[in-house]
Amino acid sequence: MTDDPLDFGDPADLEQLRREFRAWLAANPLPERLPDEPAAVFLHRWHRQLHAGGWVGLDVPELYGGRGLTALHQVAVSDELGACRAPGVPRIGYLAHALLEFGSEEQRLRLLPRMLSGDDVWCQGFSEPGAGSDLAGMSTYAERHDGHYTVRGQKLWTSYAQYSDYCLLLARTNRAAPAHASISAFVLPLDREGVTVRPLRAANGDDEFCELFLDDVRIEEDERIGAEGDGWPLAMTTVNYERNALDTGHLSKYGLLLERLRQVLQDRRDDLPDGLASAVGRCVADYQVLVAHARRRTAERLAGQGAGPESSVDKLLMTRTEQRLYETALKVLPEELFREGGEVFGEYLYSRAASVYGGTSQIQRNIIAKRLLRLPSAG
Ligand SMILES: Cc1cc2nc3c(=O)[nH]c(=O)nc-3n(C[C@H](O)[C@H](O)[C@H](O)COP(=O)(O)OP(=O)(O)OC[C@H]3O[C@@H](n4cnc5c(N)ncnc54)[C@H](O)[C@@H]3O)c2cc1C
Repeated sequence: MTDDPLDFGDPADLEQLRREFRAWLAANPLPERLPDEPAAVFLHRWHRQLHAGGWVGLDVPELYGGRGLTALHQVAVSDELGACRAPGVPRIGYLAHALLEFGSEEQRLRLLPRMLSGDDVWCQGFSEPGAGSDLAGMSTYAERHDGHYTVRGQKLWTSYAQYSDYCLLLARTNRAAPAHASISAFVLPLDREGVTVRPLRAANGDDEFCELFLDDVRIEEDERIGAEGDGWPLAMTTVNYERNALDTGHLSKYGLLLERLRQVLQDRRDDLPDGLASAVGRCVADYQVLVAHARRRTAERLAGQGAGPESSVDKLLMTRTEQRLYETALKVLPEELFREGGEVFGEYLYSRAASVYGGTSQIQRNIIAKRLLRLPSAG
């Protein structure tokens, strides 16, 4: 019933790659998280382990430290990771795409291999206190001088900035131009004078979020990515990859949870509380729609299409599937799994953030209305 998420109609070499990766995973399992070890530190160890095995950046050209394979190879590896409930490598996919598409050759050669290996950890400095959904309204400003910029402003929600070496930073570089043409992107080394990182602790106990204060930070001209004003298309490329349903490993993770819910229904079939079977049924329907959609998107990727605004559909379908699944799991699985320290405590809480990170669900609907359905704006 739950349709095998691992079947994307893989060509034969992908089957071979999946077998090799499963064998590698069996020999190199996810390490234990040490007591009190922050999530970012643990994920970084895992990142290094995956990279040592050759499993990071499969679709990045070899010249830049990847394996020069296709997006589908990367999808297959992420899918296998999700199937064994192992996390992927955070933020690499979409930040690497931004550098690949907008960076200079010198930047790609210098930055990408170290990003992929985990020698340098990156974070994403887009959102601000007054500019999340309305990203184009950002007020961080980079004032141009002869050969360098001085940057002043504040970023918010900058995930794991305190563990990062570099930030992919957006700042306005022109006060006169229209918002979407006045933003530029920069590589900001976080040890630069004038940078202050202040971590915030979230409800799940993780110290993911940070505030990033930029007080007259000097950024060299050759640390700008792309031309002045390229920041908006770079940001859209980044978030479109961030929102995609394919190489996140989510599909197989959802499939596992659904299987678990189905098993509980089977075990309790003679004593089912009202509404439970239909709640699980809705989860099955959501999941199957998502898998069918992901298969179509896989075919598009193979045909050479980038992520694009259709990623907003991916994001909405993933959010709906994930949130309904965990809401239903809360009714079906033993309560202690959802208490602090319980097996699904962190996953359940994080599912609530799915309708916010990478752009809220309302914003995804706006994008679908404008960019895919070409509906006129209200008002
Ligand atoms: C787990 C997590 C990790 C994150 N990591 C990062 C990161 O690493 N780097 C980074 O830069 N950002 C990050 N973010 C920030 C994220 O991108 C923003 O939270 C998101 O874009 C929403 O912005 P906001 O929080 O300012 O909410 P707001 O934009 O203030 O929105 C508030 C509410 O108003 C609604 N709304 C706003 N505008 C409209 C509109 N035009 N139409 C309809 N409804 C609207 C929104 O949907 C929302 O419900 C992260 C967020 C989360 C939850």
